[in-house]
Amino acid sequence: MNPQVMIVEDELPLQKLLAYNLKAAGYDTVQAFDGDEALMLTEERVPDLVLLDWMLPQLSGLEVCRRLRRRRETASVPIIMLTARGEEGDRLRGLETGADDYVTKPFSPAEVIARVRAVLRRARPTLFDDVLVFHDIRLDPIAHRVFRGGREVQLSPTEFRLLRYLMENVERVFSRSHLLDRVWGDELDIEVRTVDATIRRLRRALNSGGEEDLVRTVRSEGYALDSKSATFD
Ligand code: CA
Repeated sequence: MNPQVMIVEDELPLQKLLAYNLKAAGYDTVQAFDGDEALMLTEERVPDLVLLDWMLPQLSGLEVCRRLRRRRETASVPIIMLTARGEEGDRLRGLETGADDYVTKPFSPAEVIARVRAVLRRARPTLFDDVLVFHDIRLDPIAHRVFRGGREVQLSPTEFRLLRYLMENVERVFSRSHLLDRVWGDELDIEVRTVDATIRRLRRALNSGGEEDLVRTVRSEGYALDSKSATFD
């Protein structure tokens, strides 16, 4: 799935230029022409990044930024401000309000794309198929290989998907039904017990060299990948 960028810009030619170039660079786009529309759209779906024009009719870009930061769901969405004002004071005000970066108009599309990529890479590294590392476990999503220390770990496709999901979200506890939904997706007739069985196989494969168990079972809640891996069952 491509990362989704929301473009908040009231000037149509600029909207089109940004959307065209972002799509060409492999992003999905959603377009808003003023602040209210932007806020409404983020309630339906939180984008992976917001390109936010400073000069908007009604709500200013700065105010939109402030409101996005105040809502829990959008508090950490990366925001890049587009500003015609090159003055240091305004740039600082944008960054203080919670923007992650800014681009000064006039800009080249290539410059915006580069900023989008840099900010997203920092905020959401898992979007870029980078190698995931947790303690001595390394998962390469492109080569589809997993290593523990120097040893290669052999996993089934499902075990691999499960480990990848846990490594993208370390230290978070997920219920069995959440994992079923995210890892098994729309496969039908899978029982919740399947999660337990797959976790068991994953553990065995990961720890077969006598390594520390990093998969944590949280009784009546689910599973997590973390370093406080006390097992309760
Ligand atoms: Ca504008």
